[in-house]
Amino acid sequence: MRVFVAGLITETNTFAPWPTGLQGFSQEGPFHGDVTTRGRDSEMGVLAAAWKELCREKGFEFVESLFAIAQPSGRAVQSVYENFRNEILNDLKVKGPFDVVLLFLHGAMVSQDCDDCEGDILARVREIVGPKVAVGAELDPHCHLTPLMVEKADAIILMKEYPHIDYMERGKELFDICTGMADRKLKPVSYLFDCRMVGFYPTTTEPMRSLVDKCSAAEKRPGVLSVSIGHGFPWGDTPETGTKVLVVTDGNASLAQSLATEIGHDIYANREALLPKFPNIEGALGAARETNGCAVLADTADNAGGGAPSDNVSLLRAMIEYKVEDAVFGCIWDPIAVRTCAEAGVGATLPLRIGGKCGPASGDPIDVTATVKAFRADHDQQGLGPARSPMGDSVWIEIEGIDVVLMSTRTQTFAPDAFTGLGIDLKGKRIIALKSSWHFQALFGPIAGRIVPVATPGAIQMDFAAIDYRKKRDQDFFPRVKNPLGL
Ligand SMILES: [Zn+2]
Repeated sequence: MRVFVAGLITETNTFAPWPTGLQGFSQEGPFHGDVTTRGRDSEMGVLAAAWKELCREKGFEFVESLFAIAQPSGRAVQSVYENFRNEILNDLKVKGPFDVVLLFLHGAMVSQDCDDCEGDILARVREIVGPKVAVGAELDPHCHLTPLMVEKADAIILMKEYPHIDYMERGKELFDICTGMADRKLKPVSYLFDCRMVGFYPTTTEPMRSLVDKCSAAEKRPGVLSVSIGHGFPWGDTPETGTKVLVVTDGNASLAQSLATEIGHDIYANREALLPKFPNIEGALGAARETNGCAVLADTADNAGGGAPSDNVSLLRAMIEYKVEDAVFGCIWDPIAVRTCAEAGVGATLPLRIGGKCGPASGDPIDVTATVKAFRADHDQQGLGPARSPMGDSVWIEIEGIDVVLMSTRTQTFAPDAFTGLGIDLKGKRIIALKSSWHFQALFGPIAGRIVPVATPGAIQMDFAAIDYRKKRDQDFFPRVKNPLGL
């Protein structure tokens, strides 16, 4: 059996003004057939290496093509998207024929001329390989699960967890289903249920935890191969944006439909409870004061992982005004300020303008007096799972007693070593304020006395009813409409 693997990943914030170009895809890779060697530290590399190892164990031939990933930004530049897509398609043609095609995609990639890049890729893959070859895709749950994707793939599996700590397990399930189909042991069929909701659904808290556990339990029912909840990506305006459920069964279309509908109705019944209810900055700093131990505050609306610039300093400004003590803040994307601090040198105290650079969602900058405590070239942090996440040249500066990290490579803050890797001691801190919506919980959870997601100003606010959708087909979605399904 011959197995072809490739990956093209970015989550497009169609409201972000800065495009996703070649530079965006150059933070890690791109890897032209060598992600399992040269890109081993990346999320794509560890998954592709796991697929390679499974092939080795089973005596299958493994062929890897392009793997490319970009930090979420605005629409992908059309030529950049098409060049990557065509590299995958060309490899598929030239190096084929194959029995199995496994793709690691995001599901919310939008280019200048295409609202459904993954549907486009899957349709073109299908055209090349024909109807009999097993085509599978692993997607991020923050995807626009479109009917085109579901039609063109034999199996689509989404990560179940948010934080996305389970991409390896899901990738192995996809491998089993697709190679099982190529072996003629399985006949995957899918059904997609549209919940007509837009939302944000961390899986570490109720009621989402129980809903995800129900999906896992349902996968043990006879004939059920996979159950996925497509959270949707609210800040991507496409015809198909929204919350969906996808069920894959072994040849049983009516079971796929009834189970997807059942789980979809469960999610829908919990829609009010699933709405995020985060305090504003004042409320969050009040909660931090009352916390025993360390309060971890999340600057949710300025998360690079959702396409925000990561240079809005509203929360930091408030922390300075409130004269908080024993606090850290990070990580702010400000390559100019990093460069300025590096020039001044460790130990220097200098006037510094920070943040507020990318556009209206960045807010105003702050002008401070900063002391440079440490500089690290090519800093990085632990990512999700075994992967590392690059941060570029970074500095630790102190502003009125608050330790602040500035970075040159835009990313969200995943892990304590974003701070400790520069020499900041987190022991004894009363406030750790960071730029992430939810992924940080995987690694900051263990050191948090309390976690407080904050309704900050920024590019990805959670007032879903107010998002200015122009392309979304269903405008009568929850929470804009109380009961769109009429149940
Ligand atoms: Zn995601």
